[in-house]
Amino acid sequence: MNKIKNIGLVAHDACKNSMMEWVAFNAKRLSAHNLICTGTTGRLVEETLKTKFPNIKANITKLKSGPLGGDQQMGALIATDKLDILIFFTDPMTTQPHDVDIKALIRLSTIANIVVACTRSSADFMISSPLFDAEYPIIKDNHEDYIARLVK
Ligand code: PGA
Repeated sequence: MNKIKNIGLVAHDACKNSMMEWVAFNAKRLSAHNLICTGTTGRLVEETLKTKFPNIKANITKLKSGPLGGDQQMGALIATDKLDILIFFTDPMTTQPHDVDIKALIRLSTIANIVVACTRSSADFMISSPLFDAEYPIIKDNHEDYIARLVK
């Protein structure tokens, strides 16, 4: 993991205000990294930073909206080692139409051993770690045995 990280930001609708508060609180620290967001989360992150911190220039990529394929796009970035950190504020009280995509995102993050925070407290601990702005040798599981397995 490089010093400059690719950070995924995703928030379910009920968690978007909380995510924007968190982004605003951590604006300076976050803006040193690349922010990759699902569509609506990204639009709000952009608006929040532009309104509250007009002098901060953040590198923000907006994918499709999560339920319209944005979570899958984020998953593809994880599967191709292009995402280092995923901050995913999930709403545990509402059934989501794209539940399978959400599960896939968490599963792929586990396979890739990237840094994941699904709650605001975890995100606070993560962003205040000295590792947040440091290089970090991520340990990847070796799947060679699985790839080379005999399939009858
Ligand atoms: P959104 O997607 O940022 O486009 O609302 C969030 C999600 O994946 O639920």
